[in-house]
Amino acid sequence: MLFTTNFLTQVFPNTKGVVNDSLPIKEVTTDSRKKGDKSLFIPLKGENFDGHDFIKDAFNNGAVATIWERNKELPAFLPTDFPVYYVEDSLQALQALAHEYRKVVNPIVIGVTGSNGKTTTKDLIGTVMQTTYKTFRTKGNFNNHIGLPLTILSMEADTEVLVLEMGMNHFGEIELLSNIAKPDYAVITNIGESHIEYLGSRQGIAQAKLEIMAGLKKGGLLFIDGDEPLLDNLHDKENIKTIGFKDGNDHVIKDFDMTVSSSLFTLNDTPFRLQMLGKHNVKNASMAIEIAIRLQVPIEKIKRSLVNLELTGMRFEIIQGINGVTIINDAYNASPTSMKASIEIVKQMQSYQRKVLILGDMFEMGEHSKRLHRTVAEAITDEVDYVFTIGQDSKEITDELAKQQLQVHGQHFTSKEALVNEIQAFLDKGTVILLKASRGMKFESLIEQLVD
Ligand code: ATP
Ligand code: MG
Repeated sequence: MLFTTNFLTQVFPNTKGVVNDSLPIKEVTTDSRKKGDKSLFIPLKGENFDGHDFIKDAFNNGAVATIWERNKELPAFLPTDFPVYYVEDSLQALQALAHEYRKVVNPIVIGVTGSNGKTTTKDLIGTVMQTTYKTFRTKGNFNNHIGLPLTILSMEADTEVLVLEMGMNHFGEIELLSNIAKPDYAVITNIGESHIEYLGSRQGIAQAKLEIMAGLKKGGLLFIDGDEPLLDNLHDKENIKTIGFKDGNDHVIKDFDMTVSSSLFTLNDTPFRLQMLGKHNVKNASMAIEIAIRLQVPIEKIKRSLVNLELTGMRFEIIQGINGVTIINDAYNASPTSMKASIEIVKQMQSYQRKVLILGDMFEMGEHSKRLHRTVAEAITDEVDYVFTIGQDSKEITDELAKQQLQVHGQHFTSKEALVNEIQAFLDKGTVILLKASRGMKFESLIEQLVD
């Protein structure tokens, strides 16, 4: 049970039909099609639909109470004692309810934002915390103005730690999410280029991420990427801790090294092993370690959980392909920062004779798209053997490579079939192939053809 109708009456005093003040509500739903059990229905309005039109489905699927916008007519079929909570705006009601529920459950809330690495860091924090606390975290990528409140409203009432991913495209969005969630700890994983089309510049992006401070609880702490020059003015602030590889950070990562399957590093001189590759993931893990230490998670438990991870799929996933070729599926999404980070990891993989990059378009780069695609070439050096691009703007990467004095063989493709044909000859044990693109490039269809 989440709460009773009594709680709802306190949050939304303008009611009808509430005869039983202790009716248990087990879940909150905005989807009338989903089978529920003793659910509260919140009818949201989209561009092409209005949830109020689907109250009958919600009722048939187990709704036992509903939020209702004042100006909408209540359908006659509802029993007279069906609890109805009148509001001005159902989306605001969802957010307000989440905020109030967060207050009564009162877990330690950790909010994670950043251009890249939010889901990874959220999962790392969740994995480390659940060794010691009853922990609930955002499922998948449910990180916006609807997903975040719904996440809060699906935690059980005895939750001790709540880890929330906070995503955004525009100014003001993180501020809203932070004010709903009131984090005790907040994390900014990095400042990249995602959504630069709406935020103007990387300064704009940094400013938008820093909105997470708006809802930070008194005495709370924000952890930031201390290696990011755009955030230099935030060193030495009392409620901000910097984490990174550079000396002078509050928490310094050193002795980075990689095996085929894990990264080794020390943080504040304590050694750790992480079952993920790359410096960016070590930084993500360091955020989790620092928060865990402050919440008294024993260091041995932290260490053990970092080699025993449950992560959300398609992020630098290593797969065995045809003839023993190693495929790295990192095609969940892409931005120049994350693409370069993944290329860096492949360059560090010493044990392969042949390193192949298959890079697709990065979406949502707006008017800067072509230039941002070109910047990916900066990360490509002669440690890489082949670069194959596919799509439209990714052609900029191979074009840019052609201008440089490198041995790397670059080639652009306009069809997946042609690309698959070309790489047949490379499918062997000595080859590693990185696949990286925005989700919309549907690289899973490529990957299917590279595995048995
Ligand atoms: P989304 O905006 O889609 O929710 P996200 O911020 O949740 O993305 P993840 O899904 O965790 O990000 O990771 C996406 C990619 O970003 C990874 O595959 C990796 O290449 C890259 N990445 C992860 N962490 C970092 C980091 N700290 N700095 C730069 N790039 C990173
Ligand atoms: Mg995410």
